[in-house]
Amino acid sequence: PMVREHFLDPMVARPKITTKLSSNENPYGPPLSAQEAVAESVKRGNRYAWQEMADLIDKIAKKEGVTPENIMMGPGSSDLLEKVALVMFMNGGNIVSADPCYMSLVNVAKSVGATWKAVPCKEDWSHDLKAMEAAIDKDTKLVYICNPNNPVGSITSGKELLDFCARVSEKVPIFVDEAYIELAVGADTQSMVSLISQNKNVIVARTFSKIMGMAGIRVGYMAAQPEFLKKIQKITRGGMGISYTSIFAASASLDDAEFQDMTRTKNHEAKKYLYSSLEKMGYTYIPSYTNFVIFPINIPGKELLSKMITKGIGVKAYEIQNKPWCRVSIGTMDEMKIFVGALQDLS
Ligand code: PLP
Repeated sequence: PMVREHFLDPMVARPKITTKLSSNENPYGPPLSAQEAVAESVKRGNRYAWQEMADLIDKIAKKEGVTPENIMMGPGSSDLLEKVALVMFMNGGNIVSADPCYMSLVNVAKSVGATWKAVPCKEDWSHDLKAMEAAIDKDTKLVYICNPNNPVGSITSGKELLDFCARVSEKVPIFVDEAYIELAVGADTQSMVSLISQNKNVIVARTFSKIMGMAGIRVGYMAAQPEFLKKIQKITRGGMGISYTSIFAASASLDDAEFQDMTRTKNHEAKKYLYSSLEKMGYTYIPSYTNFVIFPINIPGKELLSKMITKGIGVKAYEIQNKPWCRVSIGTMDEMKIFVGALQDLS
């Protein structure tokens, strides 16, 4: 693999993080509508929320143009990524994905014995779909695609991906992680969920952690063929990890288009400010279709992390193709100014 993430030594005493730009959260959430729904739902927390979960699933199915049998809920999409990895790879096999990509599913697959077939991204950091198709062999159990991709922020053409998924899913199931899709402003992209009603063996994961601003409230879902979901749920139940309050928050935020639009607009503005600041300082960056930007740096990743942390700023550092990179999440405009100031102080 050509990617490695750097971490600070946990033994090193560090100041509190006051500008958190490390986990691609939404600085504006949770929406007020969701906060009110949570307050209301707390009173009912003595009960299991089966009926309310069924109502939420109905609402999601309607929005996605699928049936409720196509939906499985989880406390965040991480839970679903990990469950799929456990069930699909408990008897070995290999997983094909891009490198770099978001590693949750791949890491769990590897930990239960899967082999990772890493396919380098193209020069523009989009998925090399041709090479990924060529990497599939008789032991491939799943193809994992993250679009837009993390940690690179790049997009793979929706049209090309749709064609790839429709065709290649005849051979092997394709898992498409769309955590950031609502933030892909100005991109040729689309959800792969339309393939599910065409009976394709495609699994689409979505989360309430990003555009909906609810990373800490923990709700996600995946849409897939009912047979696929049955296979996962035979081993590990869906929905059991979600609280009454999370269900209410998710339902309210789904209806809150105003909050989602505001997030998209503000994210785009703050990202443009970051781009122009980076350009002024002579940095290059990968154009991002998400709420984070990754760019090459001139000092070792660990050094960047420790210098940022002394100012209370949390970011991520990676080594990609043997070079150090910084990934910064898009916060509020004020937070981006703090980050840009700290970056200027480095030189
Ligand atoms: N998928 C991608 C691509 C992500 O970047 C993340 C989180 O950052 C997740 C999934 C998991 O998010 P959650 O478990 O909060 O839904």
